[in-house]
Amino acid sequence: MNEPVHFYSTNRNVPTATLGEALLQGQAADRGLFLPREYPPLSADELGALADRTYPEIAHAVLRRYTAGAFDDATLKRLCEDAYDYDVPLEHVTGRRHLMRLDRGPTASFKDFAARMMASWMSVLMQNEDGELVILTATSGDTGSAVAHAYHGVERVRVVVLFPPDEVSGRQRKQMTTIAGNVTTIAVQGQFDDCQAMVKRAFADPDLASIRLTSANSINIGRLLPQAVYYVYAYVKLAGAIGGRGTRPTLEPIVICVPSGNFGDMMGAVIARKMGLPIERLVIATNANDEVPIFLSTGKYEKIAPSRVCISNAMNVGHPSNLARLVDVYGGWMDETGTVREQPDLEQMRRDIYAVSISDDETRATIRDAFERYGVILEPHGAVGWAGLERYWRECVTDSEPLAVSVETAHPAKFPEEIQATIGVNPETPPSLVGLEERPESYETMPAEYEPFRDLLLKRFQYA
Ligand SMILES: *Cc1c(COP(=O)(O)O)cnc(C)c1O
Repeated sequence: MNEPVHFYSTNRNVPTATLGEALLQGQAADRGLFLPREYPPLSADELGALADRTYPEIAHAVLRRYTAGAFDDATLKRLCEDAYDYDVPLEHVTGRRHLMRLDRGPTASFKDFAARMMASWMSVLMQNEDGELVILTATSGDTGSAVAHAYHGVERVRVVVLFPPDEVSGRQRKQMTTIAGNVTTIAVQGQFDDCQAMVKRAFADPDLASIRLTSANSINIGRLLPQAVYYVYAYVKLAGAIGGRGTRPTLEPIVICVPSGNFGDMMGAVIARKMGLPIERLVIATNANDEVPIFLSTGKYEKIAPSRVCISNAMNVGHPSNLARLVDVYGGWMDETGTVREQPDLEQMRRDIYAVSISDDETRATIRDAFERYGVILEPHGAVGWAGLERYWRECVTDSEPLAVSVETAHPAKFPEEIQATIGVNPETPPSLVGLEERPESYETMPAEYEPFRDLLLKRFQYA
């Protein structure tokens, strides 16, 4: 069995935590973010041995390196089988470029991968804890539904989701408001930023100290570890198939492209790389919220407030919560206010990471182009990623093509209007979204003010 991994805070003002502690706390007490102190390596032989395994088996092989001491192996195995009971399609697009569709989970976004595993972990942990855990989540669409779905029915855990009704699509709203049970959904008459601010204030409010509040956003390390798995999966499947399965495991490099907003998905790839996945270059593509590409090129970090509204709405983030982690991994320090207190090694970051910003026009052009040239249907987020990979190809790939994969983070059927308007096709509804229209909705409505929100939390959960 592996040694338990320790988790430290990016602010380095608290002792290291176990996985269990980090999961239940969400954010560290010094307001930093947890990161693993050790990255247990995946050797070439181990990667080679995973080539013909199923997704749940690969998830188990990767995650058990972090769960030692928190969950026993048989439990983890069962959780992986339960959480990952859907397809993870890897499509060949052109040359050596591929698309990984992370959209076949119950809410049709990649967030299902991590939300489901984190919910399972917390459910097991809460069996040994007193009282109830209350998870607060602000969402502009996909986080709320993935989290609500994942935690639905989990004993001793309650979920409160705040959403801005004008910024989420009807389908996205229904995915959250038709769940009920231990999930409370609140339409806040304001913007996503208001929802986020209310949640942040609640976490810091001494009046709520008697309620055990935590987060299921990607500040929680539980959202990142499961996101390392699909990069390992893509690698062992693609490198195995292309390089041939000889006696020696193939360890050719790969280029991975991740459309990014809060950079949690990208941190999954960073963790996989730390474990030994031979990622030659990590391409990160943002929409017009380009604070990270600018930071990488100039070394100057400035938040974008309010964030810019783009068609890839789940990536409309002007101050990504995971940037502090990336800065830390490269030897710098960004504090909880977003101030860079110590510069990371920018040269190394630029060697490892290629960052681009893609406009809405380019996003739509990419949806059109991918459909016309390759018959591939992309939705806006995946199109930002694909456009980023194409840009990398034009600017950096000279002679031999590297193996590459770009991720599609949501199902095109979540954005039917946009797809219809751009390529004249109505994407087929995946089984997970069928019947959604008919389900009854229930949610509360609240002004964008903190006090009524605090009162609701006290009334509902104080004596829980
Ligand atoms: C959340 C989300 C993203 C952005 O992921 P981050 O981890 O925040 O970078 C991209 N695409 C879709 C569809 C999403 O829901």
